Amino acid sequence: MSTRNPRPVVTFPIVLRELTVLRVADVTPGMRRVTLGGPQLRAFHRDGLDLPALRTEGFDDHVKFFFAEGDEPPVLPGQNVSSLDWPVDARPLAKDYTPVRFDPGAGEIDFDFVRHEGGVASTWAQRVKPGEVTWIAGPKMSHGHPEGADWLLVVGDETALPAIARWLAEMPAGTRARVFIEVGEESHRQELETAADATVTWLSRDGAPAGTTDLLEQAVRSMAWLPGTVYVWAAGEAVTLKGIRRHIAVERQVPREQSHFTGYWRRAEPAPGPLEDTVPKDEEAHERLHELTDLAPGFAIRTAVTLGLFDLVRGGVSGSAELARRTGTDPSLLGALLAYLVAIGLLEADGEAHRLTPVSEELVEDDHSSDEYHLGGAQAAMDLSLSGLLHTLRTGEPGYRTAGGEWVATAMHTDERLAGSARVAVEEEARWVAPGVSGAYDWASVPALTAGGHGVGTLVNALVKAHPALRVRIAALPSELRVLDEQILDTDVSPNVELIPQTGPVPHGGSTVLVSRLLERLADEDAVLILTGAAAALPPDGTLLLVEQIRPTDPDDIDATLQHLRLACLFGSGLRSQDELSALAVRAGLRVRRCDDIGWDHRLWVLEHSAGQ
Ligand SMILES: Cc1cc2nc3c(=O)[nH]c(=O)nc-3n(C[C@H](O)[C@H](O)[C@H](O)COP(=O)(O)OP(=O)(O)OC[C@H]3O[C@@H](n4cnc5c(N)ncnc54)[C@H](O)[C@@H]3O)c2cc1C
Repeated sequence: MSTRNPRPVVTFPIVLRELTVLRVADVTPGMRRVTLGGPQLRAFHRDGLDLPALRTEGFDDHVKFFFAEGDEPPVLPGQNVSSLDWPVDARPLAKDYTPVRFDPGAGEIDFDFVRHEGGVASTWAQRVKPGEVTWIAGPKMSHGHPEGADWLLVVGDETALPAIARWLAEMPAGTRARVFIEVGEESHRQELETAADATVTWLSRDGAPAGTTDLLEQAVRSMAWLPGTVYVWAAGEAVTLKGIRRHIAVERQVPREQSHFTGYWRRAEPAPGPLEDTVPKDEEAHERLHELTDLAPGFAIRTAVTLGLFDLVRGGVSGSAELARRTGTDPSLLGALLAYLVAIGLLEADGEAHRLTPVSEELVEDDHSSDEYHLGGAQAAMDLSLSGLLHTLRTGEPGYRTAGGEWVATAMHTDERLAGSARVAVEEEARWVAPGVSGAYDWASVPALTAGGHGVGTLVNALVKAHPALRVRIAALPSELRVLDEQILDTDVSPNVELIPQTGPVPHGGSTVLVSRLLERLADEDAVLILTGAAAALPPDGTLLLVEQIRPTDPDDIDATLQHLRLACLFGSGLRSQDELSALAVRAGLRVRRCDDIGWDHRLWVLEHSAGQ
């Protein structure tokens, strides 16, 4: 079955823009519209960087607004090539809002702010005056209208109203849609324009506080369900959405990829009591040490996810014996695992019956959790790889082998789940790098490109969309080509792409060859061999384009530090510096013509034969 995302995605470099408030007006008593403008809505130059014009192509795009705390000026992130540098010493105060209207010609963009008690963003919108300056970053991506659905179910509270109003206005004529919108009171309803075949149901809380009613859930439960394939989009208060999500997944059996749920805000929890302050310091240190060294919760949770235990409990299977039967496990040992999960707050027990807790609800509701924590997936291999850290530190070799005793690089050839989840992760990451790759080279001068490596499908999607005349040959193993064809390459891109079955990892043929993120899974000597092979296949005037992630110089970038250690444990590679990667190319008989920062700690090397080769 194809798991292609029904909503096509396009990503943009993330840009911080300084804008001016042009107008402020009330759409309803509960919603204030702030119109922003200024030269930085267009392409502009700052700190030596050429930054692109703002783009917003999806109804539920969002930007971050940056606010000041008290009388201090706002803490702003720094600008990189395609992304932002978040300061570690002082956290920017940022809130998400939906662009409801963007008119690039007039140089204006509108945002609708819900009026609510407290909150720096809501208060700012109530007080701000035309002429004042503000900062936004994004949108960083746009999701398109879902393809292949017979009808849409659209659900949201007033924070989702800007997105819903924009969607209805942009929806293809005749689209069948059932729309449920919750507002604080009748006077907060808006006139919504649409060419769609949409029925809009307004639900008023009649003054009850936002996030305290189940009006939306009851309305969705009691609606007349339409025939055909549905796509469900829901946004609003996070806890309120849970019941709707459960109903859609369990009772309506809507597959995960046919729905998009986003918690737009969360009703504040009561402030923690003074208990924490009374814990003595040395006891605190002991507790902290225990927390940091305890491997048991991580293994227990991952095992339960891999068995599908939390999904079964959510589906109403709650007794220990039945859970053991359905998961094919030993009843007595599963009983012990259940008891441990109860003890660490992942399940609640009521006699023999088990229920999810807010923590395990996160696990079943978050779209990524089942992949992230499944013991057969690539993320688990990344996490488990650190069990080989000692060996890797002492020898520089990969220290981790799978449960079957294989190196991960070997296991990937035969283990489809491991290889598949690694592929999905790299293709996701490639979305962010793609705009940088597209902008860093003169693709119009390339009649035909040969491409290979990890994340290459997503890069090719972006390149062909930006340069529709580009013809591409992607070389890979047949099984990888099948996945690219069925799941990764966009349908409008496929006609430009020829898929070439090939045993080796380096694409051969053609005078411009693109190799993406191949070296990060290879030890130095293997990387040199691969590059030497690529160089040998390149015609004398050919160009080899290499995309790789580099090791950031910032020691506070803990995610990158961990990624470095994990890659070393898995493949004996680790993240390399720009100079280290350039040196590998030189050892392979190549000359670095250029190396450009393409954002997200990635570089694009333009390589050619060394003189005399
Ligand atoms: C992708 C995305 C798009 C969004 N688009 C919009 C949009 O276009 N317009 C919009 O108004 N909001 C939108 N939101 C929601 C908005 O970001 C949150 O409501 C945000 O918390 C408001 O920040 P604040 O500083 O005003 O309040 P906070 O400091 O976050 O919260 C202060 C208090 O107010 C409560 N609170 C927060 N939001 C609300 C609310 N809406 N109603 C009642 N109480 C609230 C909190 O529980 C807390 O007690 C969006 C959120 C996301 C994730």
